Amino acid sequence: MNRTNSERCYEEALKYIVGGVNSPSRAFKAVGGGAPVFMERGKGAYFWDVDGNRYIDYLAAYGPLIHGHGHPHIAKAIAKTAENGVLYGTPTTLEIDFAKMLQKAIPSLEKIRFVNSGTEAVMTTIRVARAYTQRDKIIKFAGCYHGHSDLVLVAAGSGPSTLGIPDSAGIPQSIANEVITVPFNDLNGLEQALHYWGKEVAAVLVEPIVGNFGMVHPEPGFLEGINELAHKHGALVIYDEVITAFRFHYGGAQDLLKVYPDMTALGKIIGGGLPIGAYGGRQDIMEKVAPLGPAYQAGTMAGNPASISAGIACLEALQEPGTYERLDELGRRLEEGLREAARSHGYPVTINRIKGALTVYFGRTEPVRNYEDAQSTDGELFGRFFKLMLEEGVCLAPSKYEAWFISTAHSREDIEYTIEAAERAFAKLPD
Ligand code: PMP
Repeated sequence: MNRTNSERCYEEALKYIVGGVNSPSRAFKAVGGGAPVFMERGKGAYFWDVDGNRYIDYLAAYGPLIHGHGHPHIAKAIAKTAENGVLYGTPTTLEIDFAKMLQKAIPSLEKIRFVNSGTEAVMTTIRVARAYTQRDKIIKFAGCYHGHSDLVLVAAGSGPSTLGIPDSAGIPQSIANEVITVPFNDLNGLEQALHYWGKEVAAVLVEPIVGNFGMVHPEPGFLEGINELAHKHGALVIYDEVITAFRFHYGGAQDLLKVYPDMTALGKIIGGGLPIGAYGGRQDIMEKVAPLGPAYQAGTMAGNPASISAGIACLEALQEPGTYERLDELGRRLEEGLREAARSHGYPVTINRIKGALTVYFGRTEPVRNYEDAQSTDGELFGRFFKLMLEEGVCLAPSKYEAWFISTAHSREDIEYTIEAAERAFAKLPD
């Protein structure tokens, strides 16, 4: 496949844009390097690069594109706001419509605020939880990603009662000292951390189904245990549903699993492809937010008509009967086909799938249930597989930790083609 234009664009981008990319995950650093593919247009399940090559898209822009590219209903909604003016800086009725829609789908959102990104949404839930509890520390789970605000860019310490180590330069140790990291699916670890720090913890923050070290399901009782332990120690529970909300069914992972947090952060799918975030939760907690309460949060672009209209259109389209059953069915076939392709070529893999989202972990057949397990998988082999799939016209996320996302635009033929492409890719991998 010829990608000389992408290579040229990358060289040009490097002159002006730091690292040539506007988000580090778009670089090909984790898959052996090289120029990332510069995309030019998308339609349905496909996008085309600047050299005219077509790819089946499983990246889905890291999650938001559950309807693929250029969905007519969403495109129309965006075009309409473009004509009517994209920003007023005043309240609009669209915001009420969308807040109602979200609240109906995710009833724990007794009160909602719209912001502009998942990062903002999570960052603000933490601030509000701190304001409500008048405590400073948070507990998070190793490998979960919650955006790039200072507090959540902190990695695990060496044990459950160790404070955090900044994951990025530029984060003061004093901020990292407010974060405790424990392994996912480990209630004992959480119990120990709360035993030690309990009185200082404002909130336990978790992706209820993990999407950031691949797709990892909570074990039975884990989320219930988080609620029980956090509440026993006077801490709130925050679900980061930036990836999970509306991904597996019409609602949050909380509604699917029937375990409910005090606060929730949303993003990605709810913007229909435009920038958005939202947070919400129990009314008495949300009343701490300005102008009602002392916790400040604001935004020039917050609740802008374009993002809200796109979000409404996206959710309307998701209400089509059979949507999630179909995503699950396509996911099942893809999982089965990839597993067989890997097996027939002698490659041990573990595939974690939740409905229409899955991760293929290379070099491991034991279950992947936490970050340590995911870290132990073979990133180099994944990198080679990733590039071979790209040559076949199948675009995955360039990291062993990301998910493959199926959209409502994928057809059965796309899935069958992908399985055949994977068979050819496995056949070419080194022994
Ligand atoms: N939380 C989770 C679970 C995410 O996956 C992400 C983004 N990948 C974020 C928060 C941050 O969202 P954004 O990139 O919109 O700031």
